[in-house]
Amino acid sequence: MKRKIVCPCGHPMQAADDEELYKVVRRHVDEFHPELNYSKDDIMNMIAQEAMDV
Ligand SMILES: [Zn+2]
Repeated sequence: MKRKIVCPCGHPMQAADDEELYKVVRRHVDEFHPELNYSKDDIMNMIAQEAMDV
C-alpha cells in the first residue's frame, strides 16, 4: 500500500508512507510553487487531510 496526494496544480505524487510523501511534495513544491512558501507543518497538514491509500 502507498500513500498518494494530488497537488492543487493536478500533479499526482505517491510514496511508501507519509514521511516519504512529505519529501516528494517538498521537492515538487520547491520546484514548481516556491511562491507558496509552505512550511513542513503546512505540507504535513495537507498530507494528513488529503492523502489517500492506494
Ligand atoms: Zn503542484
